[in-house]
Amino acid sequence: MLAVDDLVTRYGAVTALDGISLEAPEGQVTAVLGANGAGKTTLLRTISGLVRPQQGRVLLDGTDLSRTPPEKMTSLGIAHVPEGRGVIAELSVAENLRLGGLHRRAGAEAVDLDRVFALFPVLKERRTATAHVLSGGERQMLVIGRALMAAPRILLLDEPSLGLAPRVVAQILALLRNLVESEGLTVLLVEQNAASALSIADRGVVLNLGSVVASGAAERLAADEKLRHAYLGF
Ligand code: ATP
Repeated sequence: MLAVDDLVTRYGAVTALDGISLEAPEGQVTAVLGANGAGKTTLLRTISGLVRPQQGRVLLDGTDLSRTPPEKMTSLGIAHVPEGRGVIAELSVAENLRLGGLHRRAGAEAVDLDRVFALFPVLKERRTATAHVLSGGERQMLVIGRALMAAPRILLLDEPSLGLAPRVVAQILALLRNLVESEGLTVLLVEQNAASALSIADRGVVLNLGSVVASGAAERLAADEKLRHAYLGF
């Protein structure tokens, strides 16, 4: 299981994470919610080793990864899909996907590619198209698919809904839920779109100014009117 314990991450004088502890139970979606600047992106970046915490631990099955370099994370089964849907625009959909599986053993690629195409049939249809012609939603599927090519156990997903139409957001979150149900993947889902995220999550954690202000079952958080008004914006 993935957990963080008393994480403190600072950028110079700015304390982005101020003693965060949370767990991401296996085979569940844990939504990380909170306003701009709450520390959500920094939490994912600290877990995946892109920034070093000043204090605290990132625990994978009890082993501390907080000093592990980011390039090791893939082989430990942790995949991070950052905000922004970065793909290589000149390469085809299939070529972009293959980049995600570079460290996998020989022979795994075809199986992984078939699995991603089964999850995202639209990527199969568009496998020879160059990535720059994809819509925002298709691009989001491509970056998730590329992360899955590394066959991770844990997926860290930063704001997949950003800038997408509500219908597309619903489609992507439903695909994510399906992935968790069918493959037992563990997902830490950062979202500003709290209502949508909680609708597919098992649990939620609400951050404010680098601290956890609430956590628990997704339905309970979504039903808490005070919490919704104060921190969740719906
Ligand atoms: P957003 O949705 O806007 O990305 P967030 O909840 O993901 O918000 P973070 O991006 O983690 O929040 O930012 C937490 C705090 O750290 C903010 O005060 C932000 O200004 C600051 N911060 C983030 N990145 C840096 C950086 N590279 N250098 C300095 N301060 C930073």
